[in-house]
Amino acid sequence: VSPKLVIGNWKMNGLREQTVQLATAVAEGACSLPDDVKLVICPPFTQLERVSDILETVGTDSKLQLGAQDCHTASSGAHTGEISADMLADVGVKYVLLGHSERRQNCGETDALIRRKVQAAEAAGLVPVVCIGETMAERQDGRAATVLASQIDGSLTDSFNGVLAYEPIWAIGSGVTPSRDELERTLFLLRGLLQSRLKMDDIRVPILYGGSVTPAQAPTIFSIGVLGGVLVGSASLDAKSFLRIAEAA
Ligand code: 13P
Repeated sequence: VSPKLVIGNWKMNGLREQTVQLATAVAEGACSLPDDVKLVICPPFTQLERVSDILETVGTDSKLQLGAQDCHTASSGAHTGEISADMLADVGVKYVLLGHSERRQNCGETDALIRRKVQAAEAAGLVPVVCIGETMAERQDGRAATVLASQIDGSLTDSFNGVLAYEPIWAIGSGVTPSRDELERTLFLLRGLLQSRLKMDDIRVPILYGGSVTPAQAPTIFSIGVLGGVLVGSASLDAKSFLRIAEAA
């Protein structure tokens, strides 16, 4: 069995002092976690190099790796305000979140754009973590499966070898999570969709769950065998909570 992946998405949080404290505490805690769990933390762009240095000093190796929250489709050039996948790789980033619902909603990111970002990440040697998920209205209308299928079709590359993160939009920051049964059904659905999208019987792509993951919820979520790990928002801003979630993996 491959190790469970526990990814912390810090979103737009992290000034210098808080970043040093949080990254140091997570790095020190990560070293004593069992081999069957791997951590990734995704600070904002401005803190990547600082966190990269901390991980190197503590010596977390592959136990705790660095992720970013987005990248541009091009590798360099006249794109004011943007950051490329090559620039991320250059400061030690290994993973990049792409198509987070906050970017789909607030920055108008489409599946086609996300797919081009996935290509850029792959070309730079980063592991793309593609986020998908339905809204509450889509869920209530019984359209969740259709929405997820079209996000998978549109945003993944044909040779996709990264990570898929299922984040139902209604579960993000709401304190509400799908029931264990509902989540398990959705994960099986996603696995089937990946198999047909990637034309592979044996899917290597880990499927993560994200949305209001807390230390209290984690044991139930991790009891689902098909789950590849979790993508944690607010609870990843507290080192103790984040490490407790990882301990439940
Ligand atoms: P919360 O864990 O704060 O609900 O955020 C989830 C998320 O969006 C992670 O990418």
